[in-house]
Amino acid sequence: MAEHDALTGAWNHTSFVGFLTAAIGRCRADSKLAVFFVDIDRFKNINDTMGHMTGDRVLEAVAERLQDTLGAAATLARLGGDEFAFFIEGLQDLAAVRAAAERVIQAFGSPLDFDGRRQFVSVSLGAAMGPDDALTAEELIRAADMAMYEAKLSGRRTFRFYDHRLESEARERASIQSELNCAVEGLELSAAYQPQVEITTGKILGVECLLRWTRATERGIPISKVISIAEESGLILPIGDWVLEHALAQASAWRREGLEVPMAVNLSAVQIQQETLYDAVTGRCGEHTIPTEGLKVEITESVLLSYTAEVQKSLLALHEAGVAIVLDDFGTGYASLAYLRHFPIEEVKIDSSFLHGIGNSTSDEAIVRSVIQLAHSLEKRVVAEGVEHRHQLEFLRDAGCDMAQGYLFSPAVPAAEMQALLEQRPPEWGAGL
Ligand SMILES: [Mg+2]
Repeated sequence: MAEHDALTGAWNHTSFVGFLTAAIGRCRADSKLAVFFVDIDRFKNINDTMGHMTGDRVLEAVAERLQDTLGAAATLARLGGDEFAFFIEGLQDLAAVRAAAERVIQAFGSPLDFDGRRQFVSVSLGAAMGPDDALTAEELIRAADMAMYEAKLSGRRTFRFYDHRLESEARERASIQSELNCAVEGLELSAAYQPQVEITTGKILGVECLLRWTRATERGIPISKVISIAEESGLILPIGDWVLEHALAQASAWRREGLEVPMAVNLSAVQIQQETLYDAVTGRCGEHTIPTEGLKVEITESVLLSYTAEVQKSLLALHEAGVAIVLDDFGTGYASLAYLRHFPIEEVKIDSSFLHGIGNSTSDEAIVRSVIQLAHSLEKRVVAEGVEHRHQLEFLRDAGCDMAQGYLFSPAVPAAEMQALLEQRPPEWGAGL
């Protein structure tokens, strides 16, 4: 038993390193080996929402599914937690490696069966080749782990090869994370505001509060990358809290000037899974004397995809308290129409990537038109994001889109500039629409 993982019966880390070391010794120019690192997608979610007992059943079922799929040619180990690894010897080229990884991903296309229940899980994989990528077992495992991480970043349920560039990217991420830590403590963060404009009247019907971090901007690091690093490290909680506090304080200051405008704040999946979300949001509104109707929270499709009863409950509670729930970046994930029915979503934001095609891609135009029609038939408002050109706005107006946001009106600007826009009634673009 000392050689096996007690829960799943797969080899344990120590045995795996031993076998892998021996296999590396057998490698030849025409016969390589590949190490695969496998991680269950959103396993923490399963553990948190269904309990560790169920989590353990899932791990057993995953080990079994991996072993059945790979057969005797692969040596499979559980390295710890929800991390598995396997290696295959005698592979000739990258195509064979890719085929093995794809077989594994496909194998998780049908649900796991255990204790009379069916549970869908997906996995992300990374692979490294020996002896090309590294010479020792531990280094190969680490390289495959890095590639797996890259697979997670690119959307999960997928596979990546190790690449030397990953080393420098991993270093960059680590440095961003440590700097971000200091930024949160030293208040290097700032907020910018972008108007959401009613297309038919040109009135500002909402303002989205967006996080800014000067150091990232200076280094050309997109804020979306900063946010994903913050999500992994848990830093998104203090940052999210900072944004919410900042946005509501600003909304409150504007209200005192007679400028009432709903404030939209982005919430990450990590924040939404917090049990304290409802109290935090409604409590903050109270402190700043902002009616809950004055707040919109933007969530992404990934929140709905990883949804649990808890998430649904907390979104419903916010909705019932009067907070508008907005589905952000619509069309980029895999949210189905069913999600629009099951969640109390009031507003749908069409992702800017579809807007690029307006005027030159009939399929993008068809998508935009159908999203608008669909959302309207479900009685939801539609906001188009990333509107940069006049012809896009005209298209959206003709398609019946309610609101638009983007450079055509204004980029995200500091609070004082946003206030100046709010004070022009209507703003200068009003008549031109
Ligand atoms: Mg947003």
